[in-house]
Amino acid sequence: MTAPISTVTESRDLRGLSLISAHSHISGLGVDEDTLTPRASSQGLVGQERARKAAAIILQMVKDGKIAGKAVLIAGPPSTGKTAIAMGMAQSLGPDVPFNMCSSSETFSMEMSKTEALTQAFRKAIGIRIKEESEMIEGEVVEIQIDRSVTGDNKQGKLTIKTTDMETVYDMGKKMIDSMSKERVSAGDVISIDKSSGKITKLGRSYTRSRDYDAMGADTKFVQCPDGEIQKRKEVVHTVSLHEIDVINSRTQGFLAIYSGDTGEIRPEIREQINVKVGEWKEEGKAEIVPGVLFIDEVHMLDIECFSYINRALEDELAPILIMASNRGNTKIRGTNQRSPHGLPLDFLDRVVIVSTQAYGEDELRQILAIRAQEEEVEVSANALELLTKIAKEAGLRYASNLIMTSEMIRVKRKAKEIDQADVERSYRLFLDPARSVAFISEFEKRFIG
Ligand code: ATP
Repeated sequence: MTAPISTVTESRDLRGLSLISAHSHISGLGVDEDTLTPRASSQGLVGQERARKAAAIILQMVKDGKIAGKAVLIAGPPSTGKTAIAMGMAQSLGPDVPFNMCSSSETFSMEMSKTEALTQAFRKAIGIRIKEESEMIEGEVVEIQIDRSVTGDNKQGKLTIKTTDMETVYDMGKKMIDSMSKERVSAGDVISIDKSSGKITKLGRSYTRSRDYDAMGADTKFVQCPDGEIQKRKEVVHTVSLHEIDVINSRTQGFLAIYSGDTGEIRPEIREQINVKVGEWKEEGKAEIVPGVLFIDEVHMLDIECFSYINRALEDELAPILIMASNRGNTKIRGTNQRSPHGLPLDFLDRVVIVSTQAYGEDELRQILAIRAQEEEVEVSANALELLTKIAKEAGLRYASNLIMTSEMIRVKRKAKEIDQADVERSYRLFLDPARSVAFISEFEKRFIG
């Protein structure tokens, strides 16, 4: 298998740069680490304390590995921080725990089937932490024995090297003798050996003369070579998602598809092979499976087939934690004529824990808007902030948040120091919120079309 080329941490960083600026002020759930009690305003999150506490408990269960096969639904009115809380959870996970965020509408694409899109979404949320024990051993040569007599011209080389924590005798035959004579290795040299090829590289001379070794115990703190302390090389660990391993090993796509996202469908045989391989790595202690989090927004948009896929996928040994969000109450399950809570089939609802978010009060709206203004490095006068808060109450937090940037552009034109109430008013008249936009179009239709 080809070596993976991007780690979960890297791809999370990349995503963080571009797609989630609406939530860039959030750096965690803002809860006390021991008691999981939410602080009133912390790590960019304000209020919504019950939901944050619930999210913190779920996160703890994720970390303790106690929530496999379960799903969480964050339900509440629009703009009440459902995505914000999911982001807070993502930020609180370790840097190499994958967090894949997607919207239900992404499942319905022309390029791939619904189940393929969901399979990819799930596999992006499963990390494989691969341990690579370095094949290099570094240490100081204590003794060299070359025994040429064993089997005629088939020379045998024996090399005893000592490192901080071990004394090893390498017996690697002709390959090693050739390598030793090429490098002119002698006692007291600090060398590294590639265990698989037998190649020796001379790193320098030890400061301690070799004859002193007799007097030193096996656990003697070791001498230094010119380029630092001598030690067994540390394990290299990197985490990649299962999806990345799929893409790299899928012949139809080049590995660059990971960056373009243009992966198309991946054949089931490839995934089966990869599952087997990952199972083997796990058995051999070479890899650990890190179940991450899959966040699906607007989950009521999924249809009955998607839910039946997800139901099965959650049973899988390799399942991530599923967090969903919905702002619908009772609604139709897509693909059926039945109605159900949040549009989720009843058998699926059985395995779901529901966390609800509440509408914000004025104070909380004001604080969130102030944080957003700070995040966007914009100065807002007290009057302007009051008006923005009023607008958030009437037309939604997201709309009011967007007005911060448009008002800022108007301020810049005025060459004023801070955004004033008039800038917000102007912005409010220029850019409509959905409700006013719909009202305008309906009026237009009545007059000209209807
Ligand atoms: P929808 O149902 O429309 O998808 P939502 O409940 O997911 O909405 P968000 O997108 O999380 O709402 O919130 C809208 C904006 O307000 C985002 O920029 C979000 O970061 C911010 N926000 C929401 N709640 C909070 C909060 N409690 N603290 C800080 N920022 C918040």
